[in-house]
Amino acid sequence: MQPIKTPTINTTCPYCGVGCGVTVTPGNSSEVTIAGDQTHPANRGNLCLKGQTLTETVSAGNRLLYPTAFGEKSSWDNALSLIAKRFSACIEQYGPESIAFYVSGQLLTEDYYVVNKFVKGYLGTANIDTNSRLCMASSVAGHKRAFGADTVPGCYEDLETADLIVLVGSNLAWCHPVLFNRIETARQTRPALKVINIDPRSTATANLADSHLNIRPDSDTALFNGLLHWLVQNECADHHYIETATSGLEHVLEAVQSMDVKTVALLTGLNEAQIALFYRQFAACERVVTVYSQGVNQSSGGTDKVNSIINCHLVTGRIGKPGCGPFSITGQPNAMGGRETGGLANTLTCHMELDNPTHRELVQTYWQSPHMANSPGLTAVDLFNAVHDRRIKALWIMATNPMVSMPDSNFVAEALNRCDFVIQSDVVVDNDTSAYAHVRLPAHAWGEKDGTVTNSERCISRQRRFLAPPAQTRADWQAVAGVAAKLGYGSSFNYQSPHEIFAEYAELSGVKNNGSRDFDISIYRNICADRYENLNPFYWPAVEQSHDKPVRFFADGNFFTNDNRARFIVTQPLQQPGVAQGMLSLNTGRTRDQWHTMTRTGSAHTLANHTAEPYMEIQSADAEARQLATADLVNIHNDNGECTVRVIVSDTVTPGSIFIPMHWCAPFTGNGKVNALTQRITDPVSRQPALKSGLVFVEKLNFSHYGFIVTRHTVDTTPFDYYAKARCNGGWRYEFAVKQQYETATDARALLQSIGDEVVVLKTSSGRYGHFSFTGQSLQTAMIMDNSPVVASRNWLAGQLTEVHTLDNRNRLLAAIQSHDQHSSGELICHCMGVGSKQIDKCIKQQGCRTLFDVGKATGAGTNCGSCRSEIAAILKNANTLQPV
Ligand code: SF4
Repeated sequence: MQPIKTPTINTTCPYCGVGCGVTVTPGNSSEVTIAGDQTHPANRGNLCLKGQTLTETVSAGNRLLYPTAFGEKSSWDNALSLIAKRFSACIEQYGPESIAFYVSGQLLTEDYYVVNKFVKGYLGTANIDTNSRLCMASSVAGHKRAFGADTVPGCYEDLETADLIVLVGSNLAWCHPVLFNRIETARQTRPALKVINIDPRSTATANLADSHLNIRPDSDTALFNGLLHWLVQNECADHHYIETATSGLEHVLEAVQSMDVKTVALLTGLNEAQIALFYRQFAACERVVTVYSQGVNQSSGGTDKVNSIINCHLVTGRIGKPGCGPFSITGQPNAMGGRETGGLANTLTCHMELDNPTHRELVQTYWQSPHMANSPGLTAVDLFNAVHDRRIKALWIMATNPMVSMPDSNFVAEALNRCDFVIQSDVVVDNDTSAYAHVRLPAHAWGEKDGTVTNSERCISRQRRFLAPPAQTRADWQAVAGVAAKLGYGSSFNYQSPHEIFAEYAELSGVKNNGSRDFDISIYRNICADRYENLNPFYWPAVEQSHDKPVRFFADGNFFTNDNRARFIVTQPLQQPGVAQGMLSLNTGRTRDQWHTMTRTGSAHTLANHTAEPYMEIQSADAEARQLATADLVNIHNDNGECTVRVIVSDTVTPGSIFIPMHWCAPFTGNGKVNALTQRITDPVSRQPALKSGLVFVEKLNFSHYGFIVTRHTVDTTPFDYYAKARCNGGWRYEFAVKQQYETATDARALLQSIGDEVVVLKTSSGRYGHFSFTGQSLQTAMIMDNSPVVASRNWLAGQLTEVHTLDNRNRLLAAIQSHDQHSSGELICHCMGVGSKQIDKCIKQQGCRTLFDVGKATGAGTNCGSCRSEIAAILKNANTLQPV
């Protein structure tokens, strides 16, 4: 892939919903450099480590480069004809409901618009859902219940102007780092800004918050219902706002009348003083933003959690004003674009509704649809249930990896195996889902895409192409338009470029709108190619000339309900599930430097430095009861399935619970997929799966040997009974364990193919083995194997691959392995500045560093992208030295 030769190109980060602007500068060869876009309103030049390392993910490695059909190379024409033929046959024999699409928040708005138009307007089914169902469907449902539309009221500036930010079920410091840094920066200039973190886990965000309320899982609704009750009892309600702009408070007050502080304490596990203090702080601050994310949404009571939060903002009139409001932060780069284009099975494009006959007629007329879906389709979990029981005969999966991300992954595998015809549009040649696809279509990767995305604050930005796409790849909208043409709908999908799609979409947003619907970008209905190319980030609604500044909704109390009033919604606290003897409750989530199912971030060696292996956090008493120590390996299982991960004993989780990250998948580990354990339980309103819950058994696994390998080459993992693999600079690193007993170092060599001219094997007096191969002065492979989990500085060893190994260096390496002393600077904390935990410890103990600022000044750690600031704060906290930032 060659970079396109222009001076610099502004585009948008493809990871989280913060939607940071990225400036790409093409180099002389195939290299590009990436920096934060100083002009983008979301990040003002900042990028987190994931954004900074995007260059490590744009190479052509592992690309799907041509279409395939039933395992054979195919032309695009044949592949599209085959799909059209199968779709026609399905419709003829079983009706349009036998076809389904499962798409993604990675799609650009233009892709989303075209595929929704095709499915809902031309195939005549609404069986299209997006993986955004897994991350924010409960927020959508909560917004619609309260506001009459899926409207995010506020904007990022509110986080800087608030007096109090309440973060609920949100590890913002890791999952939306640039946004968290905006808060941190605001706190430095305005220390009065307080942050309260509500989360069952003590996360990186909790380390930086002023206080942490570690509530029981899923007890958020009880806490906010109690807050509503307390606010009214303590005369903190805004009666004018309630009377002029809302309805239904009396029903909610009746429902929460028993929620005094004592009851809330029983339900949440918090003590009464903590609860009372939180309620007083909420009441005392005029400007409060409540930010929530997956900890709220991914629950069987997610929609009620959302509405219990919104209720508290409505009762105080804290919505639609600077520094105020409930604020759902999305996970994916274009989750919002998906919502806007009708990517969910129950919605229509431009924030219109499938179950609204007026909206249906409007859209059908505009699209001139021959077959308009007339009722909501299957949502993600129900969709895969329908695939499993063979109601769905043909399934098209776009830009997502459901074999890892959907709950109950063994069930998903069975479903895909049973499906007559699976199409996969993707970038990579193999992921966990690809083995199940009959037809595979090569899509454009991030640097090749051309379109728009919307971030969490309704800001629409261009994703611009800066790499020429491989010849046989196509944009997803082109693939869909190709099938539409084969089915005879070519004239309705005859788009020549994304700007034509955007213009059509913008025009539709304004049809019969006049302020009756929130989403309106009709000012762009006649946008030309040049203007589209040079489009600056803008906020919707965009009906007037000036829309480059964020707009707040509901300042005037005018909502999108029938009577224009916001609705208070009665919400029910979830019952805590009973836990059978010996079981632990499962929580899942993200790590700092990986993204979703690792198809991209897994190829970035810098990102693997943070966490290179799937793991489980378990509280010390639970670990002791199971005779577990940090670095052991465990099997975690329940009736759904099992996985094998490394143990981290940590009091970040509460007794009786464990945490496992959601990212790990087959290309990086033998058996680390946590969604093998989760269940297909969904919220009854939003149908979002409860991905953060489950009950599991944890058992220690015993092996004869445990090992660590760094190598320039990939290694055959067949002899390993456990393995995890990660990128490192210049090669790969592996963790492994084997049951077979190896008596000598020479025997253990059988575990590795011999690569390199010179091989050194050794066995230390403590019984650990070493195996090193060199070619000239280059280390090819180093393996350390022990009878217990290997103690070694992984990052130091991985760094040896890029060292020159003269005889002296080589001897130092071997001596270090034997003495267990690898001259390590400790676990790498700040990747930008290369600062390890031991260096930070040293500056605390020897230089008296007491604040993040001190540590930054002494070592440089935390002064660049800021992703590691929460970990530095944790080290300071453990040393009992942390002072206000
Ligand atoms: Fe990308 Fe990081 Fe910005 Fe999210 S916070 S958009 S991952 S750079």
